[in-house]
Amino acid sequence: MDPKEIWQTVLGEIELQISRPNFLTWLKQSELLSRDEKEGTAFVGLPNNFAKEWVKNRYHKIILGSLRNIDGSIKNISYVVVNNQNPSAAVLKKTRLAKSMTPQAALIEVKIDPKTNLNPKYTLESFVVGSSNELAYAAIQAITKEVGRKYNPLFVYGGVGLGKTHLLQAGGNEIQKNHENKNVLYVTSEKFINDVVWSIRNKRMEDMKKKYRDVDVLIIDDIQFIGGKPSTEQEFFYTFNVLYENSKQIIISSDRAPAAIPTLEERLRSRFEGGMIVDIGYPDYEMRLAILKTKVLEHGWSVMEKTLESVAAKVQRNIRELEGVLNKVVFYEQYKNEKIDAKKLDEIISETTQLAARNITAGNVLSVVAEFFEVSPNDLAGRSRKSEVVEPRQICMYLLRDILKLSYPHIGEKLGHRDHTTAIHACEKITRDVNQNPTLNQKIMLIKERLYKNGG
Ligand code: ADP
Ligand code: MG
Repeated sequence: MDPKEIWQTVLGEIELQISRPNFLTWLKQSELLSRDEKEGTAFVGLPNNFAKEWVKNRYHKIILGSLRNIDGSIKNISYVVVNNQNPSAAVLKKTRLAKSMTPQAALIEVKIDPKTNLNPKYTLESFVVGSSNELAYAAIQAITKEVGRKYNPLFVYGGVGLGKTHLLQAGGNEIQKNHENKNVLYVTSEKFINDVVWSIRNKRMEDMKKKYRDVDVLIIDDIQFIGGKPSTEQEFFYTFNVLYENSKQIIISSDRAPAAIPTLEERLRSRFEGGMIVDIGYPDYEMRLAILKTKVLEHGWSVMEKTLESVAAKVQRNIRELEGVLNKVVFYEQYKNEKIDAKKLDEIISETTQLAARNITAGNVLSVVAEFFEVSPNDLAGRSRKSEVVEPRQICMYLLRDILKLSYPHIGEKLGHRDHTTAIHACEKITRDVNQNPTLNQKIMLIKERLYKNGG
């Protein structure tokens, strides 16, 4: 038998043992390259490193078993990446890219500083500046030089995915870099609300006060969620006053201007309006292209200039979507060796932007995750602490939050009546890890891809 025939037979057997989507994703593009009869080694080719690791870790046993049924002299398998396509190098023209970049920067492990909650991946250097955000950028820059004395509070507002969090975090990182003795604290308003509620319930208000009033720079992200929660607003108002009177810097973001947060107390609104208010608008084509190029350089990817131009032209809504589409383009090109033509690009864009989430249910998420990891949905909801089910379970929680926006108690409920804090922990963990762990990122993308295909 020649290697082709042998492999056909092997795949035929494996196909019966694993689920169809797993078979198609991982093994369809595999091949038997050759056999070293003296050593008893079979060389199996896979299209990329990711597939190689995955197949080696998950399917080695069944592959070896099937191979040995046909050729008993085979003792082991060596997995090899076979790359038939040369990715065309990115042709980069001069544009207003972000200033300094280390290729692969994104792959270096990023750790959120537990003291400040700042994520070092957000820097002013990697922030692309254009007409839609230059005022906000200039204000943050001024603050990093004259902390607490220039614009206080600084209130930055703008739509979803336009760079508020990036800019605020980058400002915090820059301050920390230039003024080591200054205490910076970044919190989302959700976190702030939780802290207030928790400390009231546990009679620990003093700790809470100390934590928030002891800082030199307080950054509160997405303040719009604070509106309409009286005890939280009151606590925030006191904190605000203490900091303000002591010339501590306060930086706030929101998805809309203070006047447009209907439930915000008047006294807070006028405090905000007493400082500097800047907005971040929608990026134009040039800026979208510059952002794409910056990301490509940062990650050390290679993507055709023409592809970047089409993405910049077509994805107009926000920068998060722009990144999402770019990630997928790279994923299809570099991991799946697919060519990105206009049709494929449109598919990717509609997948990413309209999030065919319309028809997806919690049940879909559970079954697709279970199928992907080859565990049963009962395992996901069960009590086992084995690592084979813990990660799938956490990913499941993360996806229920990310795609379906379910509440934490609801998520806990869906996964075996767990407490909502377990769900919060899982979602936070995966959110953090996804940025640091390319393999996890790929898994999640594959799961989403299946979900959108089945559910959409
Ligand atoms: P928001 O907080 O306004 O919803 P984010 O700050 O989370 O938006 O931005 C969404 C994504 O877009 C992030 O990954 C961020 O790094 C990226 N991004 C936003 N604005 C810029 C920019 N001007 N330059 C580079 N990347 C940006
Ligand atoms: Mg944000």
